[in-house]
Amino acid sequence: MSVRPYRDIQRRKSRQIHVGKVPVGGDAPITVQSMTNTATTDVAGTIDQIRQLEVAGADIVRVSCPDADSSAALREIVPEVTVPIVADIHFHYKRAIEAAENGAACLRFNPGNIGSRERIQEVVRAARDNGCSIRIGVNAGSLERSLLERYGEPCPEAMVESALNHAKALEDEDFLEFKISCKASDNFLAVAAYQQLAEATDAPLHIGITEAGGLRGGTVKSSVGLGMLLWSGIGDTLRVSLSADPVEEVKVGFELLKSLNLRHRGVNVISCPSCARQQFDVIKTVEVLEERLAHITTPMTVSVIGCVVNGPGEATMTDIGFTGGGRGTHQVYIQGQPHHRLQNADIVDHLVELVEKKAAEIEAEKQDAQHQTAAE
Ligand code: SF4
Repeated sequence: MSVRPYRDIQRRKSRQIHVGKVPVGGDAPITVQSMTNTATTDVAGTIDQIRQLEVAGADIVRVSCPDADSSAALREIVPEVTVPIVADIHFHYKRAIEAAENGAACLRFNPGNIGSRERIQEVVRAARDNGCSIRIGVNAGSLERSLLERYGEPCPEAMVESALNHAKALEDEDFLEFKISCKASDNFLAVAAYQQLAEATDAPLHIGITEAGGLRGGTVKSSVGLGMLLWSGIGDTLRVSLSADPVEEVKVGFELLKSLNLRHRGVNVISCPSCARQQFDVIKTVEVLEERLAHITTPMTVSVIGCVVNGPGEATMTDIGFTGGGRGTHQVYIQGQPHHRLQNADIVDHLVELVEKKAAEIEAEKQDAQHQTAAE
């Protein structure tokens, strides 16, 4: 029994597959994905962007393969990056085969879209021979005409039927290393489709709200839709789709998982909105602090609160707490306990120093524990 059952999320039981070395589904951590927006044939530019996504924490990165030159470029791109690469195919089965042969860890395509059973068999063979998994990617905007005619418009039932049809095409080839997405730009439609799909299959689910919008609108929209799904235990891997720098997608994805306690990476900053009571400039401090702490990957919580109204209370649950105090004398908390005061010193510099020290301690403890386990 959990100490705080109101915080527990029971994840849906899905089977586990692998995207390269990254497990997806089962009890694996929920992974965060993004997609490059460079021309894939711009090998240097694509490698550079994938590396930026790796630094931001992306677990898996998708790269579009609209033509033969792009699938050929994977041969140069894949060895230069560490995250597994998903090749986005869509229609042409030959691109899927080339991508599998050129190092992709996963192929995103819909078996029903590539024609005959022989073609499906060829792609599945290429996937199997090269250790690739597959993502079936249903999108409300590109449902099969026959389904649209029958259902009248994109609806959850049509999306789920489409997904299960594609899944069956792979199951008929005894290929079970696949995950499914069922995206729509409308939250109601996407959430209902995923809820129904979650009941209908044990395949891992890649969740996302497609074409969600720009940085602010898309973040809010994705947080509502994906938050709803994640909270109810649905979702094994996710992408937040934003019309913005893909690095932002990764950052938002992690913030979303952190807010639901589903994944921890880096510093979780708890800060107040500030008001006339603030004893230092909270907004500016947090803005600079987040920037300066972006390199920390160790999970940690830091509170930065403008005054004693909420500062001491918030600090009790954090690794490092900071509360503004009168006459420029601020209180620092370590592990929830008052530790020392800070006067006439740069707040950000001081907090960065404390966080870096704490991160090093946590990592050292982790290593000790690993060595101990290995020795036993
Ligand atoms: S913690 Fe203090 S400064 Fe921050 S919003 Fe509340 S009252 Fe204002």
